[in-house]
Amino acid sequence: MFSDSLKEKIPSICLFFESALQRNRLANAYLLCGADYNLKQEFADELIKILNCLNPSESGKPCDKCLNCNWIINKQHPDLPIILEPDLEKSKKGVIVVDQVSKFLSRIQNKSQFYRVILIKTAESEQLPAQSANSLLKSIEEPNPKILFLLFARDQEQVLPTICSRCQAINFPNYKQLQSPEELDNSLLEWTKIQSISFYKANQYADTILQQKKEIPELINLLDNITAIYLEKEKIDLSKIQLIENAKLRLKSFCSAKSTIEELIFNLQN
Ligand SMILES: [Zn+2]
Repeated sequence: MFSDSLKEKIPSICLFFESALQRNRLANAYLLCGADYNLKQEFADELIKILNCLNPSESGKPCDKCLNCNWIINKQHPDLPIILEPDLEKSKKGVIVVDQVSKFLSRIQNKSQFYRVILIKTAESEQLPAQSANSLLKSIEEPNPKILFLLFARDQEQVLPTICSRCQAINFPNYKQLQSPEELDNSLLEWTKIQSISFYKANQYADTILQQKKEIPELINLLDNITAIYLEKEKIDLSKIQLIENAKLRLKSFCSAKSTIEELIFNLQN
């Protein structure tokens, strides 16, 4: 359903949404976390097309030619996406004010022939303070049919818990922040210090690593470095070393690098 170029950038996120779409199990609201704003926007644009294409392929890929696709590609669609962002005329501080939220809510009450996607581009509490957030909660929790909320945030921790608890968080990788191999290795050092990790975060780490290390020998070398880090620790945890050794064996027997690394990260940290 998603384009090949997006699948290359965020394979697990695309897979996750494709599976939800195929099973008709899209949640009401997703919190898209991460610093790479353009990547999140690119993802949202594709999802809006997938949900509204009039002539999708059998596999659900949008046609890029129908009226809806054309409008969306040219950013001329009359009803898509619906954007809720700070209005600098209403608030000099750049927050989404209650008045704006009320107007927005009455707009989405109206019926529409489209699958409407609502983008809240700044869901952090600084831009979406409690009063405004509270008036949104009910709509996020029980939206009208064919309405999907996508909330953008750099960091989930900056979003009010009342909002977080009503959204499914999706962590986007920050490729721009991790470019050189040295930086990657430093992040791995950090990685060995993490106590527990969500499956999404493990996914994200695995994606980042595989972007950098594409060959099996490179990956094995990396795992050796991690073993060395663990061996330097005061209390050596042999079960962790064993997990790494098993992962190396799997890589050498050409099991999927992606699932091997993902599982390893998850198992090492939990
Ligand atoms: Zn189309």
